[in-house]
Order: sequence, then C-alpha cells, then structure tokens
Amino acid sequence: MTGVWDEVVGQADTVAELATAAEDPSAMTHAWLFTGPPGSGRSVAARAFAAALQCRAGVRGCGECPSCHTAMTGTHTDIREVVPEGLSIGVNEMRALVQLAAHQPAVGRYQIVIITDADRLTEGASNALLKALEEPSDQTVFLLCAPSEHPDDVAATIRSRCRRVALRSPAAEAVATVLTVRDGVDPEMAQWAASVCGGHIGRARHLARDAEARSRRERVLAVPLGLRGLGDAFGTAAELDRAAMAEADDLSGERDAVEREELGIAMGAGGVGKGVAAAARRAKAAEKELEKRQKVRNTRNRRDVLDLALIDLAGFYRDVLVAGAGAQVALTSPDSADDVHRAAREWAPESALRRLEAVLACREALDRNVKPLIALEAMLVALHRG
Ligand SMILES: [Zn+2]
Repeated sequence: MTGVWDEVVGQADTVAELATAAEDPSAMTHAWLFTGPPGSGRSVAARAFAAALQCRAGVRGCGECPSCHTAMTGTHTDIREVVPEGLSIGVNEMRALVQLAAHQPAVGRYQIVIITDADRLTEGASNALLKALEEPSDQTVFLLCAPSEHPDDVAATIRSRCRRVALRSPAAEAVATVLTVRDGVDPEMAQWAASVCGGHIGRARHLARDAEARSRRERVLAVPLGLRGLGDAFGTAAELDRAAMAEADDLSGERDAVEREELGIAMGAGGVGKGVAAAARRAKAAEKELEKRQKVRNTRNRRDVLDLALIDLAGFYRDVLVAGAGAQVALTSPDSADDVHRAAREWAPESALRRLEAVLACREALDRNVKPLIALEAMLVALHRG
C-alpha cells in the first residue's frame, strides 16, 4: 500500500481493512473506534482513513490529489478534528460538532469528524455524541481514537455502536525505517531511537532530533541508582517537576504569544469615541478567556511531559524485573543495560516490583489531578525505600 497509508506504520492488517472499507461503500460503517497504545498511531490511522474516504482518485487514498492533500494537512472542508485544549471535551463543544456533522458535505464524499481523544469526553459530551451515533445521517462518519476499549476510556454505549480497529505498537525495525526513509534521520541514530521508544514513533522522532530530549531521558534513567538518601528523593522530585514545567512552557510559550497578538489585532487596539468603553470591556473578557484556555493547555502539556518521564522510569524497573528473572525479552531501554543488571543484582525482585508499582501509582495520581510535586515526592520516597 502506498499513498496516505504510508503514514500508518507497521499495521498491515489494519491498513488492508480500512482500504477495503474506503473502496467499497457496502463495507463502510458510520462510526469507528481506533484503539492502541500511545504512539501506535491511532490519530494518524484515523486521518489516513479520512483522506482515503474523501479521495477522488481511482484507488482511494492516492496521497496525490487535492482531496488527499488537504485531508492529510488538516485543511479539508469536510473533515473536522477535535483536539481537546484542556483535560476534557465538554458538552457544548460536542453539541456544536454533532450539529455541523449532520450537514451535507461541501466538497467531499462524507462529512467526517475525528475525535482524537475520545477518552477525554465528559459524560455530557459522551451523551451528545451517543445521540448522533444512534441516529446517523448517511454521509456522516465519526472516527474516534482512544487508548483502549476499556469502559474507563470509552463508554460501553458508544463502543457498541462503533466498528473497532485495534492498532499495535509498531516493531522497532518499522520505526527505524520510517525515521530513516521519511525523516532523513541518520540510520544509527534511528536504530537507537527506535530501540528505546517503546513503539512510540513520535517519541522516537523527538529523541532522534532533539539533543535536549535525549539528555532529559538520560537524567530520568539515572534516577533509580542515584537515590542515596531521603534528601535526594525530595531534590529529585523538585527537579523533575521544574523540568516538566520548563518544557511545558517551551511547548506553549510561542503559541501563547502568537494567540495573544492575534487577539489584540482582532479586538483592535486603541481608538476613541462612542462604543470604545464597551469594546474595551469585550476585549478584556476575551483576553481573560484566552488566558484561561492557555493555562489549561499548559497544565496538560506539563502532565504529558511528566508522563513520558514516568513511562521511561517504569520501563527501567520493568527491565530490572525482566533481567532478574533471566527472561529472554528485549529491554525497554537497552542502552541502560549495565544499570539494569546492576540493580537486578542489588535489589530483591519484590523491591523492584514495589518500585514499579510506585511509578504506576504516581501516574494514576497525576491522572486524578493530584498536584505533580506531591505525587512525585510520594513516588520518589517509595523508590528510595524500595
Ligand atoms: Zn487522493
């Protein structure tokens, strides 16, 4: 398969199924649920499928026609993608979307809605979506993406109305090939990044390209053997928290500034005469609203950054257990093999397991909106104690 399917890495079976559905209207369903571990490419697969559905060429999803092109760059008139700015997708946002989705497509064959984080739907939003799924209009297609089919991620009522597509983590070999061939990464670097990314293509690309990301990862992986005392535990918690904040600021800083500037232009600066006071009030309110949205986005970025660090840490303790048991399985961080084997010799398996559990408990705590520093401190004290 070529064209838009090139983007869907290491998922041959899924691609075959989606391509068939795009070719043959009788094999088509109006609601799909893409699941798979983070980085397996759920939203990429959904986007490629949307492009194929809109494609005007003989073989759907050619990747060349204007339709495919606008679909893949996110500018197709009849494809809407919901990316929650905050931690959840609210009911008003969903109602507006459902209403738009019921319209006839303007230029495409379908009116397509992609919901990239269906696990972030509020209950109200879920219900609004459910109504649309229950009474589908002919030309509307909903593509939902979520980590799993678990009821915590997607309500059972919604899941039962969707055709399911399960993506796998792509093999390291497939990831390395994409990095080399498509992103022009040096082969050796691509191999390394693919071997430590846990099947997460975006993460592999980021590590391959960004020296700062590589050194952050190194610092995180040095934590397990670097905890000499309780003071280290608290110091490390504070450092991880600070680093996550700094990176989140980096991620959102530029975008925030652009948005503020655009808002300023939209509202018009200065002016005299009638209506100026009212306009100023409106501008002030819009500014407040923007600030609120940016703050929510920043919080989310910070959580995502911390989560990556926790996944690396969890991988380390998992590797220690694997090495301790003498299992012939690939390590999640093969470049830390020396540290992993040393830890496996020094720690009892129960203690490595308790540490792994402490990392997972910290992820859950962050998920419940526990203050990051508090969650990190609790984790690091547990990691130190063993
Ligand atoms: Zn096309």
